[in-house]
Formats: sequence, C-alpha cells, structure tokens
Amino acid sequence: MAKDLKAATLCIRGGWQPKNGEPVEPPIVQSTTFKYDSSEDMAMLFDLKKSGYFYTRLQNPTNDAVAAKIADLEGGVGAVLTSSGQAANFYAVFNICEAGGHILVSNEIYGGTFNLFAVTLKKLGIDCTFISPDATDEEIGAAFRPETKLVFGETISNPGCRVFDIERWATIAHNHGVPLIIDNTFATPINCKPFEWGADIVTHSTTKYMDGVASQVGGAVVDSGNFPWEEHADKFPCLCTPDESYHGLTYTKSFGKMAYTTKLVAQLMRDLGSIPGPQNSFLLNIGLQTLHLRMERHCYNAKRIAEFLEADDRVAWVRYPDLPGAPDHALAQKYLPNGSCGVMCIGLKGDRNTAIKFMDSLRLIHIATHVADVRSCVLHPASHTHRQLSDEQLKAAGIAPDLIRFSVGIEDVDDLINDLKQALDQLSN
Ligand code: PLP
Repeated sequence: MAKDLKAATLCIRGGWQPKNGEPVEPPIVQSTTFKYDSSEDMAMLFDLKKSGYFYTRLQNPTNDAVAAKIADLEGGVGAVLTSSGQAANFYAVFNICEAGGHILVSNEIYGGTFNLFAVTLKKLGIDCTFISPDATDEEIGAAFRPETKLVFGETISNPGCRVFDIERWATIAHNHGVPLIIDNTFATPINCKPFEWGADIVTHSTTKYMDGVASQVGGAVVDSGNFPWEEHADKFPCLCTPDESYHGLTYTKSFGKMAYTTKLVAQLMRDLGSIPGPQNSFLLNIGLQTLHLRMERHCYNAKRIAEFLEADDRVAWVRYPDLPGAPDHALAQKYLPNGSCGVMCIGLKGDRNTAIKFMDSLRLIHIATHVADVRSCVLHPASHTHRQLSDEQLKAAGIAPDLIRFSVGIEDVDDLINDLKQALDQLSN
C-alpha cells in the first residue's frame, strides 16, 4: 500500500485490496492446507524458493492480509500475526535471542511479559535484566553484557502508564549493536509510530485496542527492516549464518530486509506454531477498520475523566500522561501529541479495602481482566493481574497496592462520570 497514505485510510484500505469482482472484506480462508499439482511446486515452497501457501501453521491468506494492514499502519516491511500478545513478545525475542543470551528490559511492563521474561525465558537459558525507564544513560550502558541481544520497553506501560523515551533508548541500544523492541499495544500506531523514533521491532497484543471489542485474543510482531543485522553478525548468527534446517540458507543473504520476518515464520512458526485462526484474524480486521475513530474517543473520554478525578478530594492521585501535571507529560507531548490512550491509574485516599469498595460500587463500569475495550472497566493489579508478583516485584514494577487500573471506554463520558461520582459517594456510607 502507498506509504504516504494516512493512518485512517490504512485502517480501512490497508492489507487487502480486492481485485475486480472480489469481496471487499478479506475472505476467511478456513483451511489448514493448500493443494498443488506437482511435487516440484510444493518443493519450491518448502525450500523458500517461491512464496505461496502450503500449511496454515506457517502462513494463511486471511492472516497475511491482516498482518499486512498492521505492517502498513506501523510503517514496517513485514508483520506476523500470533495467537496472543504473549506469543508475539515471546517470538519477537526468541527470534534473535537463544540460550546463553541476555536481554535488557524496562521494569515498567505488563505483568505477563515480566513473568515471561523473568521466569520462562530463564528456564530456556535466557537471562533478563530489568531496569528503570528513568535510569541514566550511564546506568543503562552499564547493564549491557557481551551477550546482550536486545532492549525491550512498552510505549505506554501497563499498568503504570509510564511513557517510554523511545528515541533515547533506541540510541543506546544501537550504540551497543542491538535492536530496540517496543510493545506498542496501548498507544497503537494511531497515536505513536515507534519506528519513526528509532525502534527496530514493534509488538502488539491485538487483543486490546486493535480489536477493541473484546472478540479475539491475538498478537503481532512487526519489523521495520532497518536493523543492520549483518553489521553485527557476531551477535546474530541466527540470522547471518546458514540455517541447517533450511538447507544452509542464510536469512540476511536470501531475504535482506525481510530476514527477521522470514525467519520468524519459516523457523519459529514451523517449529512452535501459535498462529491465530483465520476467523480471529477476520474479527481483528473488523476492529482495525475503526481503530482511528475509537482511539480519538478513548483519549477524549479519558482526559475528561482524569480531570474530573484529579479535582475530587477523595482521590489521592491520578496518573494519566495527558494531564499537564503528569510526571511523563513532556514525553507524552513528544511521542503522543494527539493523546496517549484510554488507560489511566488512580489511587483513592484510604487503604486497599477502599479500592475494593469503590470498584464494587460501580454500576456501569465493570471489573474485568482486560483493557482497551469499548466498555469501561477497572482492575486492581495487586489482587488480580499481578497477584503472582511478590511485594518487592510489585514495587520494582512501579505498582502501588492501592493502584486501580481504569480503562476508559467510548460510552458517553457524562454517564461514566456519574457512575464514578456515585461510587465515590458510597465510600463515606
Ligand atoms: N503486552 C501488553 C502491553 C499487554 O497489556 C498485554 C495484555 O494485557 C500483553 C502484551 C499480552 O497480550 P495477550 O493478553 O493478548 O496475550
């Protein structure tokens, strides 16, 4: 798709361009396999000498159409859809980091990703150092090791709502010869395009705003095609030396800017699977078609609500990067000038039980282990998503026991404010 098209157009037109007489929606190709007339045709596909479909675990036309739309939106050269955001982050890392490797990760990230990196990757022999996004350049530099393969952060962290200084971290990563991977789930490419700030790879939980209506769980890995793997071939033999499982093919030599994406599909998807079902990709595409409109309303509603809560005496604190007084407001203005997202964190005056009573008193806004949905919802990470973390780990991830994560939907904002008011009133009963 033409690179100069705006995001709103890409949300609708990106990825699937029907030819004469073809359906306007990408068809759901609900088939595990594809038929060929000659064994030579099939052999060429297996050798990666021709492109085409042979088995849905590797590639499927519906999945590819939606992946292409996400690649267009992020400005990448290629994207791969995965069965969840967790799978996307796992594949993004594992594609270039094997046993014996080390990764450097912002400690302000989603609890599930924290667990994946701290516990599961460790079992696979990959070591992880968590570091504050506020660390100085010197502190970050000192955390690198010879075996460090990548740096990882979230554009807007879940649940802390911290804004990651992408440009600064990209420069540091590149000075150490490694790529920066950014989880752009909360900002979405509507509000931030990490590649424009130097990030090399972007991941998404498409379960969130991209879908937007809580209809499917999915993920995506997008490559900018910009990282010079060959210049750091000693660090990335997985991409720059022959892959014996592909008859000695070298990804960078055979696929150039598509090396990272091709390896992820041809090797990791082949061996580990984890693609989304085509039906889910179809649902995701329906969500993507309105992403630009929904993000605008999520941001408008969230800003109005953040201002209302900030002015209420019963609220101890509000963390929303779009508020002028927010600690990361300057970063938000730089990276998210049109608004951040619909998620904020709040703390109420009182104790842990005050948070629970408040949430239980809400009538319209519901309690859910989800964010980035058209329906407003709240969650108490200390007793829900992050309950596997110790107090020390909670603190290290910047999560206070009173923190309520509030995902503002796109209902009428006055109805939401009225619900919050009545729940706050009930705290004094
Ligand atoms: N990344 C972020 C920022 C998330 O918020 C989440 C889930 O909440 C994930 C990744 C994992 O995504 P999924 O739930 O689709 O596996």
